[in-house]
Amino acid sequence: MSEKTIFQKIIDREIPATIEHEDEQCIVIHDISPQAPTHLLLIPKKRIVRIGEATPEDTQLLGHLMAQIPLLAQKLGWSDGFRTVINNGPYGGEAVPHLHIHLLAGRQMAWPPG
Ligand code: 5GP
Repeated sequence: MSEKTIFQKIIDREIPATIEHEDEQCIVIHDISPQAPTHLLLIPKKRIVRIGEATPEDTQLLGHLMAQIPLLAQKLGWSDGFRTVINNGPYGGEAVPHLHIHLLAGRQMAWPPG
Protein backbone atom coordinates (compact mmCIF):
# COMPACT_ATOMS: atom_id res chain seq x y z
CA MET A 1 0.00 0.00 0.00
CA SER A 2 1.21 3.53 -0.74
CA GLU A 3 2.35 5.95 1.95
CA LYS A 4 0.21 6.71 4.96
CA THR A 5 -2.79 8.96 4.49
CA ILE A 6 -3.50 11.84 6.83
CA PHE A 7 -6.18 9.70 8.47
CA GLN A 8 -3.75 6.81 9.03
CA LYS A 9 -1.40 9.28 10.71
CA ILE A 10 -4.24 10.41 12.96
CA ILE A 11 -5.15 6.80 13.78
CA ASP A 12 -1.48 6.13 14.58
CA ARG A 13 -1.28 9.28 16.74
CA GLU A 14 1.39 10.80 14.55
CA ILE A 15 -0.67 13.97 14.13
CA PRO A 16 -3.33 15.33 16.46
CA ALA A 17 -7.08 15.43 15.98
CA THR A 18 -10.11 16.07 18.12
CA ILE A 19 -11.50 12.60 18.70
CA GLU A 20 -15.24 12.17 19.32
CA HIS A 21 -15.25 8.37 19.48
CA GLU A 22 -12.83 5.49 19.05
CA ASP A 23 -13.15 1.72 19.21
CA GLU A 24 -11.31 -1.27 17.79
CA GLN A 25 -12.66 -0.76 14.29
CA CYS A 26 -13.08 2.95 13.77
CA ILE A 27 -12.26 6.46 14.86
CA VAL A 28 -14.50 9.54 14.69
CA ILE A 29 -12.79 12.92 14.50
CA HIS A 30 -13.82 16.51 14.00
CA ASP A 31 -13.05 17.79 10.50
CA ILE A 32 -10.25 20.36 10.44
CA SER A 33 -12.26 22.51 8.03
CA PRO A 34 -15.87 22.15 9.21
CA GLN A 35 -18.65 22.71 6.69
CA ALA A 36 -21.36 22.80 9.37
CA PRO A 37 -21.49 23.67 13.08
CA THR A 38 -20.61 20.03 13.72
CA HIS A 39 -18.66 18.15 11.04
CA LEU A 40 -17.34 14.71 11.93
CA LEU A 41 -15.40 12.15 9.92
CA LEU A 42 -16.16 8.49 10.65
CA ILE A 43 -13.12 6.49 9.57
CA PRO A 44 -12.44 2.75 9.60
CA LYS A 45 -9.06 1.83 11.06
CA LYS A 46 -8.62 -0.69 8.27
CA ARG A 47 -7.72 1.25 5.18
CA ILE A 48 -10.46 0.76 2.65
CA VAL A 49 -9.34 3.20 -0.03
CA ARG A 50 -12.85 4.32 -0.99
CA ILE A 51 -16.37 2.94 -0.78
CA GLY A 52 -16.23 1.92 -4.43
CA GLU A 53 -13.34 -0.40 -3.60
CA ALA A 54 -14.89 -2.08 -0.57
CA THR A 55 -15.35 -5.84 -0.90
CA PRO A 56 -17.80 -8.35 0.55
CA GLU A 57 -15.13 -9.06 3.21
CA ASP A 58 -15.74 -5.52 4.48
CA THR A 59 -19.43 -6.09 5.13
CA GLN A 60 -19.13 -6.38 8.91
CA LEU A 61 -16.90 -3.32 9.13
CA LEU A 62 -19.21 -1.26 6.93
CA GLY A 63 -22.12 -2.29 9.12
CA HIS A 64 -20.16 -1.25 12.18
CA LEU A 65 -19.56 2.18 10.65
CA MET A 66 -23.25 2.58 9.84
CA ALA A 67 -24.17 1.54 13.35
CA GLN A 68 -22.11 4.40 14.79
CA ILE A 69 -24.26 7.01 13.06
CA PRO A 70 -27.39 6.76 15.24
CA LEU A 71 -25.20 6.45 18.34
CA LEU A 72 -23.42 9.70 17.46
CA ALA A 73 -26.68 11.41 16.52
CA GLN A 74 -28.20 10.51 19.87
CA LYS A 75 -25.07 11.37 21.84
CA LEU A 76 -24.71 14.77 20.18
CA GLY A 77 -28.42 15.59 20.12
CA TRP A 78 -28.97 15.88 16.40
CA SER A 79 -32.74 15.70 16.76
CA ASP A 80 -33.30 18.24 13.97
CA GLY A 81 -31.50 16.05 11.45
CA PHE A 82 -28.11 15.71 9.90
CA ARG A 83 -26.43 14.68 6.66
CA THR A 84 -24.04 11.87 5.80
CA VAL A 85 -21.74 12.11 2.76
CA ILE A 86 -19.22 9.74 1.19
CA ASN A 87 -17.12 11.30 -1.57
CA ASN A 88 -15.78 8.72 -4.02
CA GLY A 89 -13.09 9.44 -6.60
CA PRO A 90 -12.43 12.57 -8.65
CA TYR A 91 -16.04 13.28 -9.67
CA GLY A 92 -17.15 12.63 -6.10
CA GLY A 93 -14.80 15.27 -4.75
CA GLU A 94 -12.70 12.84 -2.73
CA ALA A 95 -9.48 14.36 -1.36
CA VAL A 96 -8.22 11.68 1.04
CA PRO A 97 -7.97 8.11 -0.29
CA HIS A 98 -9.00 6.40 2.94
CA LEU A 99 -12.72 5.76 3.33
CA HIS A 100 -14.48 8.25 5.57
CA ILE A 101 -18.09 9.16 6.15
CA HIS A 102 -18.80 12.85 6.66
CA LEU A 103 -21.44 13.62 9.30
CA LEU A 104 -22.72 17.18 9.13
CA ALA A 105 -25.15 18.69 11.64
CA GLY A 106 -26.32 21.95 13.11
CA ARG A 107 -27.65 23.80 10.08
CA GLN A 108 -30.19 23.42 7.27
CA MET A 109 -28.71 21.47 4.37
CA ALA A 110 -29.54 22.19 0.72
CA TRP A 111 -30.30 19.86 -2.18
CA PRO A 112 -28.94 19.17 -4.73
CA PRO A 113 -25.41 19.10 -3.30
CA GLY A 114 -22.69 20.99 -5.15
P1 5GP B 1 -12.94 14.21 1.24
O1 5GP B 1 -12.94 15.40 0.34
O2 5GP B 1 -11.79 13.28 0.94
O3 5GP B 1 -14.26 13.50 1.28
O4 5GP B 1 -12.77 14.77 2.71
C1 5GP B 1 -11.57 14.90 3.37
C2 5GP B 1 -11.84 15.72 4.61
O5 5GP B 1 -10.72 15.60 5.46
C3 5GP B 1 -12.05 17.20 4.34
O6 5GP B 1 -13.33 17.58 4.81
C4 5GP B 1 -10.92 17.87 5.09
O7 5GP B 1 -11.28 19.10 5.69
C5 5GP B 1 -10.54 16.82 6.13
N1 5GP B 1 -9.15 16.88 6.56
C6 5GP B 1 -8.06 16.99 5.75
N2 5GP B 1 -6.94 17.00 6.48
C7 5GP B 1 -7.33 16.88 7.78
C8 5GP B 1 -6.60 16.84 9.02
O8 5GP B 1 -5.38 16.90 9.07
N3 5GP B 1 -7.34 16.71 10.14
C9 5GP B 1 -8.72 16.62 10.13
N4 5GP B 1 -9.34 16.50 11.30
N5 5GP B 1 -9.42 16.67 8.98
C10 5GP B 1 -8.74 16.80 7.81
